[in-house]
Amino acid sequence: MYRPAVPPTITAVPCLRDNYAYLIHAAEHAWIVDPSESAPVIAALDALHLRPAGILATHHHPDHTGGIDGLIARFGPMPVAAHALDRGRVPQQSIFADVPSTAFASTGLEIAGCEVLAAHIPGHTRAAIAWCLRAPGDEIADVFTGDTLFAAGCGRLFEGTPAQMHASLQLLCSLPDTTRLWFGHEYTAANLRFAAAVEPDHAPIAARAATLPPCTTPTTVGLERATNPFVRAGDADVLGERRAAKDSFR
Ligand code: ZN
Ligand code: FE
Repeated sequence: MYRPAVPPTITAVPCLRDNYAYLIHAAEHAWIVDPSESAPVIAALDALHLRPAGILATHHHPDHTGGIDGLIARFGPMPVAAHALDRGRVPQQSIFADVPSTAFASTGLEIAGCEVLAAHIPGHTRAAIAWCLRAPGDEIADVFTGDTLFAAGCGRLFEGTPAQMHASLQLLCSLPDTTRLWFGHEYTAANLRFAAAVEPDHAPIAARAATLPPCTTPTTVGLERATNPFVRAGDADVLGERRAAKDSFR
């Protein structure tokens, strides 16, 4: 099997107020994850001398898809992939990944010699999808979680239930501890303040908050298992109570 000489690089592109778009690139080509807006993504592509090859959207919200039209206007047609259930909600969607919520499934896509797998992770929205990269013969090493899993947090339940969010977070955190999780918003400092209120005596949360860099993406499965109050919720009821508390936490 073809093994790339260099694994793809992932570059975070800050967008809007606190969003991250991502470039997955090797040689001169890049796939773009969650282009919130086109201008900063185009600037990053130009700075790195990259040509876009396609777009992966984690869910339909405008702060994850708002740059699609501008990118296609600038660079021409390219594939736009999202979950099949987001049909009609993601601009210019051309790949409808019908993957299950029970496992990471093949999508048939490949980026720089890495297989692209995906899982349906409902909870924040009904069609949220996690995009994953796996090098040949390896485990999944990188996952794009959108607004389902944040560092030390999870997304609001706009179209899903606590049970769906619980199952989605547990699926994501069933991957090895070293798996990198690239998320949609830089909310980590506020999330850790809530985590510390939920588990005031849990040392890993205080330790993480004490050494927080300004940009915290990616996190890892191991770090989330240790510090994320929604991953650490033992069941869907506890998750639901914590999510409701977080909605009004200041
Ligand atoms: Zn978002
Ligand atoms: Fe969202």
